[in-house]
Amino acid sequence: MNVQQLDETYKILIASPEVAPFAKTGGLADVAGSLPKALTTMGNDVRVVMPKYRGITDYKTIGDFPVQVGSRKATAILREGVIRARLDNVESLVPVYFIDNYHYFDRDNMYMYFDEAERFAFFSKAILEMIKYLQWAPHIIHCNDWQTGPVPLLLREKYPHDPFYRGIASVFTIHNLKYQGNYPKDVLHLLGLGDEYFTPNSIEFYGSASFMKAGILYADVINTVSKTYAKEIQTPIYGQMMDGVLKARSQDVYGILNGLNYHEFNPETDARIYRNYGPEDHNEKKENKYALQREIGLPPGDAPLIGIVSRLVDQKGLDLVAEVIPEIVQRDIQFVVLGTGDPYYEELFRSFHKTYPNRVAVEIGFNVALAQRIYAGCDMFLMPSRFEPCGLGQLISMRYGTIPIVRSTGGLADTVVNYEPNKQAGNGFTFAEYSSDSLFDAIIRAINTYQDKRRWVALVENVMRHDFSWNRSAAEYMSIYGVARNRLESLSYPA
Ligand code: ADP
Repeated sequence: MNVQQLDETYKILIASPEVAPFAKTGGLADVAGSLPKALTTMGNDVRVVMPKYRGITDYKTIGDFPVQVGSRKATAILREGVIRARLDNVESLVPVYFIDNYHYFDRDNMYMYFDEAERFAFFSKAILEMIKYLQWAPHIIHCNDWQTGPVPLLLREKYPHDPFYRGIASVFTIHNLKYQGNYPKDVLHLLGLGDEYFTPNSIEFYGSASFMKAGILYADVINTVSKTYAKEIQTPIYGQMMDGVLKARSQDVYGILNGLNYHEFNPETDARIYRNYGPEDHNEKKENKYALQREIGLPPGDAPLIGIVSRLVDQKGLDLVAEVIPEIVQRDIQFVVLGTGDPYYEELFRSFHKTYPNRVAVEIGFNVALAQRIYAGCDMFLMPSRFEPCGLGQLISMRYGTIPIVRSTGGLADTVVNYEPNKQAGNGFTFAEYSSDSLFDAIIRAINTYQDKRRWVALVENVMRHDFSWNRSAAEYMSIYGVARNRLESLSYPA
């Protein structure tokens, strides 16, 4: 990773409910696994903390400490693993702390349990207790999503009596505002907070206590994962009822686009794809396409192949896809869909496969290796999202020379510029209105361009040369860490 060294460096703790490669359900894990590497290679002392879910087995045990959760005296067992970061062939190790508690985290899945509030109240409190236990006071705790929302609140309201905590600033990144962690009032008790926090000026939110609101209100700086999404979430349409809260802190809301891990996602070295290739190896990319078609049971050949790798949920615009498929398959166009999620969509796509077996291939499940082969083997990648905080799929697909077709919203609007044949400008095909007609139109524009081989090859080469690596994003994170520290310094605590 070619990242500039900075004059001022920080001790940074990145707190996240999921971190790749240890546990992943979505893009947050990729960010929480990659950002620490980039920050470490810039010279910062970065450490990561996450829950120790059942699937995590590679660690050493450091010790344990008590964590009070309501009236329950729980024990956090502290384990440690590593993420390896590399710069110019020099390897550095990023410590990853796993917070273990058999009762809360030794379960089949990561999320969706009845006691979710209690599990992540425990996690949030354990993060703050852990740094004291380690006697390691970071300059910044960078929290991610609602599961860590209580950390900025507790840090600001409950811990300043201890000077150890007073110099720590907090940053709260929203990866998806839809998931807010809103629970009945008694979760205040789990966090050791009194009724005075159950007000509209604090974490009361339409009758619930909101973990997300705690993060937004009490962090020194709020961040989300693209500039457009940062603006969108301050409006009623995209604000998930939280727009007023965000607007009140508008001055402190930033939007930093996620980067992509260019070592992991590299078509020239990726061992998961059939043939490695660079921007000029058009035939090798084609070989990936033919091999993919064979693997997923579509007739091999030059028909345009459109891929989707996605959680199958409403957010991703799959209702529009379902509306256009019957029309699109009348032409010589193929689809491959890899995803898991809402049973309704799983069944819908299975039925498309049954009806059009030579046109639509469907794989229900979470399969990272197949995902890579789809990114490499397709001609186009489809993301018609209703909303998209950043989106990684379009970035990965561009890295593999697969042209994105996207709805212009959030991070998709910030990364995909509509291709204009006459100007030879743009890197994908976009549409604005959330309608199947607009999606259909964008697909047809993509297909028409695909038929013009000279133009298409130039577009693919151009897209593969884009730089969406972490270099720029990590530098922007450094600057908001600086803002958070300045803001903290402007607060004064009673002695
Ligand atoms: P979100 O975080 O909303 O799910 P993103 O586009 O930001 O969407 O990130 C999704 C990430 O998860 C990408 O790395 C994508 O390749 C991966 N992914 C999604 N679904 C699957 C799946 N079924 N199998 C493998 N990887 C998947």
